[in-house]
Amino acid sequence: MIPVKLNIDKNTLNITWNDNSEDKIKLANLRRLCPCAVCNSEREKNGNTYIPIYTGNQLKIENIKIVGSYAVNIIWKDGHSNGIYDFDYLLKISRN
Ligand SMILES: [Zn+2]
Repeated sequence: MIPVKLNIDKNTLNITWNDNSEDKIKLANLRRLCPCAVCNSEREKNGNTYIPIYTGNQLKIENIKIVGSYAVNIIWKDGHSNGIYDFDYLLKISRN
């Protein structure tokens, strides 16, 4: 599925998909599940029970860019900008 609308409402990212269904994902979860190499290795190193706590600008979105036709790149206000969330991954984490 493809997101047709993304909007940020306080602490939540609202996603409207191309089949008109809607999902919400908390920004804290979105950040925690960042798929970039740095965050991946952090999670691997710390194991499954690792729950990072993010605060302030780490939980504010500066910008969202569409990458090609398959993903979104989320740029956080603290400067963390490597996370490329492909649409399938976004769907998966928003419905978990
Ligand atoms: Zn990351």
